[in-house]
Amino acid sequence: MTSARDKIRAFLEANVGKVVNTQQVRDVAGISEYARRLRELRDDEGMQIHSHIDDESLSPGEYKLVDLKREPRIADGISPQKRARILERNGYTCQMCGAGPGDPDPFNAGRKTRLHIDHVTPRAQGGTDDDENLRVLCSACNQSKANIQSPSEDARNLLARIRRAPRSVRREVYASLQRSFGDTPRAGRDVAADPDDGDQSDAGPGLRA
Ligand SMILES: [Zn+2]
Repeated sequence: MTSARDKIRAFLEANVGKVVNTQQVRDVAGISEYARRLRELRDDEGMQIHSHIDDESLSPGEYKLVDLKREPRIADGISPQKRARILERNGYTCQMCGAGPGDPDPFNAGRKTRLHIDHVTPRAQGGTDDDENLRVLCSACNQSKANIQSPSEDARNLLARIRRAPRSVRREVYASLQRSFGDTPRAGRDVAADPDDGDQSDAGPGLRA
C-alpha cells in the first residue's frame, strides 16, 4: 500500500526542478491534506521543496523540488498546536530582529522571511519544549547569520501587537509613523512601500514557519 506521502515524494522527485501546483499534488495524493504531507516531506525528510515564500518566481499554490539532495532539518518535536501558540504569543515577530513573515529576507535576495520556533536554551544543553523555553526567530536569526541591531524589548512588544492587528489598522499605524518621520511616499511608490503587500502576512498552515 503506497501512502499519500510516498506518492507525493515520488511525484516531486520525478519532477525535480519543475514547478508543480496544488491541483497536481492533490490529484497524485488523492487527499486534501496534501499541505501537511508536503510539510512532512520538507521538515521530516529534508526535501528541498520551495513555495512562493522561498522563491518569488513561484505563485501561491506552486511548489518546486529544487534538488534531489536532502537537507535534513533537526526535528524540533514541537506540535503544530504549540507552534501556533508560540507564534501568536510572539505576535508573528522574530524576537531578535523584529522581522515578520513575508518581510524580505535580508540574507537571501528574492526570498521572504520564514519564522521558526527556537529553543532559548538549546535542547542539547538541557532546554525543554516548555512554552517558556520557546520563542519565534526568523531564519536569519535562527541560523545566527543576522548581525543586526535588535530592537529594544519595547519596540518588539509594540511590533508584536501591531502584527496581530487587522491590516487596515496596520496601514493606519504605518501612515501615521510616516507622517511623524516626514517620510511621505512619493506618488507611484505606494504599492512598493506597503509593508506587507500580498498575502504572506500570516504564518498559518502551508510551507512556511
Ligand atoms: Zn530575525
